[in-house]
Amino acid sequence: MIVTGKARSALRRLTRSSESEEYRQIGYMLADHAFAREDKTFSESALSDALTRLPFDGVEDLYIALGKGKLAISDFMEGVFPGRSEHEPAGAIINRDLIDDKTAKVYVKGEGLREGVSLQIGECCYPIPGDRSIGILTPDTGIVIHTIDCDSLEALEDQPELWIDLGWRRAADKTASVGQVTATLEHVPGALAAVTVIIGEAGGNVANIKTVKRSPAFFDLVMDIEVADARHLSQIVAAMRASAYVVSVRRARANV
Ligand SMILES: [Zn+2]
Repeated sequence: MIVTGKARSALRRLTRSSESEEYRQIGYMLADHAFAREDKTFSESALSDALTRLPFDGVEDLYIALGKGKLAISDFMEGVFPGRSEHEPAGAIINRDLIDDKTAKVYVKGEGLREGVSLQIGECCYPIPGDRSIGILTPDTGIVIHTIDCDSLEALEDQPELWIDLGWRRAADKTASVGQVTATLEHVPGALAAVTVIIGEAGGNVANIKTVKRSPAFFDLVMDIEVADARHLSQIVAAMRASAYVVSVRRARANV
């Protein structure tokens, strides 16, 4: 194919504009998601006020900056709701964008992750950034993400055509993800409170908690904890293990 100078510059323009369109869409999705994370309904009218506080010419510019990661979610939300983060230390998990089924495609990379293919985070193993992760092509669902050591992968070992090698994008460094841990605790007053304090002090945010009675002496605690990445979750697990109330702690895996 012969590409003339004119055609080449037209092509370049096209690439550039479809790129910014993609960033704009990602930015819009992140803005919508940041609102939903705080139980607020997103509307563009809420942004017009914010634009007087943020250095952007218009909403489109703002979306593109968000999509490119040039504007942090926490700075965006502070611009929209001034003063909101006064009580939260900078970098607190609650101020970060949460990786979930909706935003996973922004933070995960891999062959075949085309526009329109939906991603879902495996609720068997709760993969988070830093985990070696595998995508499994699943009918009707799209691609389900698992940690490489998830037990549910064993049954699929003879179907390599369903496996997709996945990686986490650099932007995932500044996010929060939900990891799941199960802890066995001594059934004594104060145990639950002590463990919750340990998690908070280690910078984790307990998003969901379920207790299961095991015996008169012990109970199990299944917790969804928002963390920065796999290393952060390991630190939290280690801090929990050091508690006198805690008998054992393990990260979620299928069928265990
Ligand atoms: Zn899994």
